[in-house]
This record gives sequence, C-alpha cells and structure tokens, in this order.
Amino acid sequence: MSALAPAAHPPANVFEMSAVFRMACRQLETVAAAIDLDPNITQRLMVPKRSQVMAVPVRMDSGKTRVFIGFRVQHSLTSGASKGGLRYAPEVDLGEVAALAMWMSWKCGIMNLPYGGAKGGIACDPAALSLGEKERMTRRFTEEVLNIIGPRVDVMAPDMGTDEQTMAWIYDTYSMKVGYACPEIVTGKPVELGGCVGRREATGRGVVYCVRAAMEELDLRPGDATAVVQGYGNVGSVTADELHKLGVKVVAIGDRYGAVRHDRGIDIQALNKYVAAPGNERRTVVGFPEAEALDPADLLSEPCDILVPAALERVITSENAGRLRCRILAEGANGPTTPEADAVLAGSDVFVIPDILCNAGGVTVSYFEWVQDLQQFFWSEDQVNAKLRDLMLGAFRRVREVARRRNLSNRLAALSLGVQKVATEKAQRGLFP
Ligand code: NAD
Repeated sequence: MSALAPAAHPPANVFEMSAVFRMACRQLETVAAAIDLDPNITQRLMVPKRSQVMAVPVRMDSGKTRVFIGFRVQHSLTSGASKGGLRYAPEVDLGEVAALAMWMSWKCGIMNLPYGGAKGGIACDPAALSLGEKERMTRRFTEEVLNIIGPRVDVMAPDMGTDEQTMAWIYDTYSMKVGYACPEIVTGKPVELGGCVGRREATGRGVVYCVRAAMEELDLRPGDATAVVQGYGNVGSVTADELHKLGVKVVAIGDRYGAVRHDRGIDIQALNKYVAAPGNERRTVVGFPEAEALDPADLLSEPCDILVPAALERVITSENAGRLRCRILAEGANGPTTPEADAVLAGSDVFVIPDILCNAGGVTVSYFEWVQDLQQFFWSEDQVNAKLRDLMLGAFRRVREVARRRNLSNRLAALSLGVQKVATEKAQRGLFP
C-alpha cells in the first residue's frame, strides 16, 4: 500500500449507506488517481462540508399532521456560495443528496462558476400533495434551513418534483424573515419575480448544444438522426423539443408511468398539448393517441442515434449497458450511468456526454439569474442563450481536449477538470486554522 493511500479515505460515515454516494466517491477516487491529487485534499473533497437533516411537519388538507424528512447538503463552499437544486421525490435520502451536491461542485468547476455544490430534498411524493400542502411544506422547509442558506451562502434552484412556484415560495418566505425582497436567494423563479428569461429551458438547451457538438465530431446530420428520451419533465421535454426543432426525429419517450414510440418521429407539439391537457393530471405521455405504447423496460435499448436519460440516477447499469443501441449518450439526468455500466460503455463506440457537462446549462443560467438579481440589471433572452451557448461549447471543447490529450473517457476528462478546479482552490486557500 502506498504511504499516501490511507489519508485519501475518510473514516466510514453516514453518507456511505447510499449506493449513489458510494458511486460519487468511486468516481472521485478514480479521478484523484488519474490526476494524481494530493490525498489530503481528496479526503476533504470526499465529505460534504455541511449537512442538515430535518423534520418538516405539515398540516395536511385532512387536518392531520404529517412529518416529512428534509435534507440540505452543502458539499463545498470553497469557490463561493453553494448552489444546487431542491428535489421532491419519494426515495430521496441523505446519501443521494450528498452525491448530487458533490456532482454540483464538479459541474460548477467545469463551467468556471463561482460556486460550490449543494443539493436538497424532501422525501415525499409531490404528485400526491395538494398545492396548499406543497406550499406549507416548502415554507416550513425554508424556515428550517434559514440558518444555513443565504445569497452568499447557499442558493437553491428547482430539481425533480419542484418548479418555479416552489422557488417563489422560498423567495417569499426568506424575504419575510429578513425583512426585504431578496430575489437572489433562489434561482429558477418566475420571470416576474426576478427570474431569468430562458432559465426553464436552459438545461435542455444546454443538452442540445452538447449533442450538436458531438454530432459534428461524429459527422451525424440532425435531419438523418433519431433520438430516445427518458423523462418528460423539465429537462426531457425541452430536450425533445429542441431536438425536434433541429430536425431530429424523436422516436420514443418514456416517463414514470410508461413509454410511447413512433418510428416516423413523435409530433412534440402535439405531445406537449396532450401532456398539458386539463384531464392529464399526472402530466404523462402514456395514452398519447398519435403514438403506440412501448414497454418502458425496452426504452433505453431502442435503436437511435441519440439517447437522453433525463429522469433518474442509476438507470444505465451493467445489466443493460451492453444493450444500448445509440451513438451518443447525452446524460440530461444526474448520475444516470453506474461506474459498472461505464466500464461496459468504455469498450463500445458510444460517445458519452457526461452529466456534469451535459446538464450544466441549468446551473449556468442560474448563475446568470443570480448575477442579474444582485445587479438588478436584466438581460434579454437572446443574450442569455448566446452566453449559455458560448459557455457550454467552451466547456465541451475543454473536456474533449483533455480527453484526447490524456487519453481519458469524456467522463473522466470532465470530472478531472471539475475536481482539479476545486482542489486547486482548496490547496491555495489552505486549511483553517
Ligand atoms: P422533473 O420532475 O421535471 O421530471 C422528471 C421526469 O422523470 C418526469 O417526466 C417523471 O415522470 C420522470 N420519471 C420519474 N421517475 C421515472 C422512472 N422511474 N422512469 C422513467 N421516468 C421517470 O425533473 P427534471 O427537473 O426534468 O430533472 C430530471 C433530471 O435532470 C434529474 O436527474 C435532475 O437532477 C436533472 N437535472 C435537472 C436540472 C433542471 O434544471 N431541472 C438541471 C440539471 C440536472
């Protein structure tokens, strides 16, 4: 064993009960070895800076009280305020949130944003809550994290199961507490409240900027290409829409309730109308009359040029990785591919656009929103999109350059850039006291 090995591994901790957190640590270990990171720094990067687990009691519409469990994890505050989404989903736990917070640190590093990574969540099924219950839960959660958030400390944004309305409630609750309107406390707000034009679409647009760059490298023309999208929420629906506008045929789409396919290409506008229709409370693609039903178990192995997982983590595993029949895997979701699946993909000709690069458009436009709120000076949507495109393509080029020069996978190259940035800042700032 090398003299350095023990120091790189922190003592066993509560986060490691989670498979997602162990996956994030394994990635960090691989990167640390690839870039020869100082183990004293690696150890600090393995454990989130600050975590809070809290009871979130809510008065339900029935008059009964129900206690939800909430989490907020700030992985790093080294580069500035921590930044990351708030997720409402039944299975959210501390380890998952900690892993997502760690990935946010690397993502902000790749994009050169002055943020550390954070993430939060409440274990609940948002589809089973009324609007009033969601509002009371969100406001109580905000009250519980009040001591550890702030525009210069930790700034939340939407993620799975949360949206602009959720951010508006957090903004209002925080502003009531501090006594003045403080829009810079959250990003992904409604535009009328200081939100940024184009923020809602930013993650999907960023995914498609990366896909186009990959297609150019592979000499694939959008008019000849097909795509499959898993997840039809914020990221999946915008990605599908942007691909469709480019001329790509989106041949299959799935969500939590099922999947649909149409070999000649799904009419995305018609699908959006169907999903938003008043009778479709679950906002599902299932039952869309202009497509046929598809077994969701077959979705990821449908033949296509571009596969976009845009729902959950750990959906591409060692079991199904060998069955993918795509040329480009564009990871709209966070952590959709396990390290075991990555090893399978490494031996294939699938061009992976790793999550921390592919879905970084969201945090990038969140950064634009925060800057605008701090300055009270607002940009046009054209300015937002042009700047987003510049930053996404710049990051894509940097990742590809490192991958080629050092003969690394795109994922390892992306992680190296992100980890190295945070590690360098930590080393230069030193260890307090
Ligand atoms: P969302 O809640 O808007 O949509 C999630 C979608 O996934 C829904 O269509 C849901 O039905 C589907 N889904 C849930 N469980 C599923 C299952 N078991 N199988 C198939 N589909 C399932 O969430 P979102 O904001 O679009 O986020 C999706 C992913 O993208 C998450 O991993 C999130 O962390 C990541 N992400 C989001 C943003 C953002 O700006 N919203 C930014 C970066 C990364």
